[in-house]
Amino acid sequence: MRAIQLSSEGLCLRRGAPRPEPGQGEALIRLLRAGVCSTDLELVKGYMGFEGVLGHEFVGSVEEAEDDSWVGRRVVGTINLGCRRCAVCLGSGPEHCPQRSVLGIYRRDGAFADYLTLPLANLLPVPDGVSDAQAVFTEPLAAALRLRQQLRISPTDRLAVVGPGRLGLLIAQVLALSGGNVTVLGRRAESLELAAGWGFDTGLAADAESDRYDLVVEATGNAAGLETSLRLVRPLGTLALKSTFAAAPAVDLTKIVVAEINVVGSRCGPFAPALRLLERRHVEVDALVAAEYELEEGLEAMAHAARPGVLKVLLRP
Ligand SMILES: [Zn+2]
Ligand SMILES: [Zn+2]
Repeated sequence: MRAIQLSSEGLCLRRGAPRPEPGQGEALIRLLRAGVCSTDLELVKGYMGFEGVLGHEFVGSVEEAEDDSWVGRRVVGTINLGCRRCAVCLGSGPEHCPQRSVLGIYRRDGAFADYLTLPLANLLPVPDGVSDAQAVFTEPLAAALRLRQQLRISPTDRLAVVGPGRLGLLIAQVLALSGGNVTVLGRRAESLELAAGWGFDTGLAADAESDRYDLVVEATGNAAGLETSLRLVRPLGTLALKSTFAAAPAVDLTKIVVAEINVVGSRCGPFAPALRLLERRHVEVDALVAAEYELEEGLEAMAHAARPGVLKVLLRP
């Protein structure tokens, strides 16, 4: 099969990669669509030191499973695989299991390939009304929803999302469901057009008023965004960090202490509510698709996704 593989030599399209063998309790899944995420681009730069098949945002069709009822079903899959035995797994779930692997990110081959495997326990059927291209957004939308699990957001809060990219625009929509007033901030006016068209308040991050927002979500995908975001949050307010990147930012943390800022790190979120939002059309994702490439052109797809201002790039076999 074909696979987009990251190794110490860099990124390559491997044509003769072996088809993965599903382990006990696992399904063999044929890829239908995958999405390129900023995390994939950071992995290429050395984030997590990952080597293997990239890709963690996907929708596929189950080809083989011990339980026949799954075969032929269209599925998405959660990306963390825990040991299922430790106190963390039994308590909060696999996301923080010390033994975990993460699909296409850490110690487990991912979805930029004709086939992938995942435990049945990680899979969720995709409702008929959700297209393949829409279903690819389940994972990042779940990551956006994670903020709603972690933070109490009042409808009167002033909310800002810094970084109007593929994840930031999902976060803005999810925060807006709270009824709160969401401002989307970016570095370039062109990058704000989509958010403005959806009715969000928008502005250039450099011009935004300091100490104004009750909650600022950093979703820029770069180290500079952290400094901007910290500047905008009000004393006693909350700064939520959604970006993962390879670079180590040098940021003055004084304000966190003096203004008593609550800092929240936020990663993976719940899939079932994300699928509900997609099915009920409460979140717009079609407009976020910038391009679709065949798996054969995976390297071009990655290069396209890395260009500034490009939203979601999809891959299909
Ligand atoms: Zn992602
Ligand atoms: Zn565990």
